[in-house]
Amino acid sequence: MARKAFIAGNWKMNMTVASGTKLITELKPLVKEAKCDVCLCVPAILIPAMTKAAKGSKIKIGAENMHWAASGAYTGEISADMLKDYGVKYVIIGHSERRQYFGENNDTVNQRTLAALKCELTPIVCIGETLSERSAGDTEKVLSRQLEFGLHGVEDVKQLVIAYEPVWAIGTGQTATDEQAQETIKFIRKKLSKMFNVKDANRVRILYGGSMNAGNCKGLMAQPDIDGGLIGGASLKLDFAKIVNFDK
Ligand code: PEP
Repeated sequence: MARKAFIAGNWKMNMTVASGTKLITELKPLVKEAKCDVCLCVPAILIPAMTKAAKGSKIKIGAENMHWAASGAYTGEISADMLKDYGVKYVIIGHSERRQYFGENNDTVNQRTLAALKCELTPIVCIGETLSERSAGDTEKVLSRQLEFGLHGVEDVKQLVIAYEPVWAIGTGQTATDEQAQETIKFIRKKLSKMFNVKDANRVRILYGGSMNAGNCKGLMAQPDIDGGLIGGASLKLDFAKIVNFDK
């Protein structure tokens, strides 16, 4: 079965109600004919207003993180049920910025992933190597560990989305080449087929993320194992529509 392309934005800690509403209002007509799934993951506090702004369009509003507990004494955190109150379907888990600045690790990624799946949210699980890990020839070892620990206990791997985001390519303008991204994502799919099974691994959507933009998206999306993109900087502008319309 063919995998449906998926273009997801990650606004990170950007936008306000006014600027986000303006962008989504302008994006709506531009993505009307999109054949892929489209999502914008936005700061939690903007979810209600952006959901309202995106109403009636192809754009689904997602979250950038969630806690694994259903409720409790976790000051500043957001639960799956709180996201579901606003119709959220997708949630980014384990973004490299959370790993780098907020102590996220493979264990907490695993807890968040299992909690999201249990609550019928679709986690977009981020994995990727740093520049020094790639230079040392450790890319496959690092990704294997992130997958083995991060997805431990997952029963139905088709229910999640993987985003391969080489850390050295995020926000740097230095995109992986089409071949580098394809080769690594092919490895990830092979690893998933060993951890789960070939049939399910072939149905998992694997996105590329790292300085993907209107200029390089066509080449990346033409690769057989790349099913979409997780877009940071370019999701803050109308260029996002050009990526969504990569097949036009
Ligand atoms: C991201 O934040 O996931 C990302 C890929 O950022 P950028 O597109 O800006 O590199």
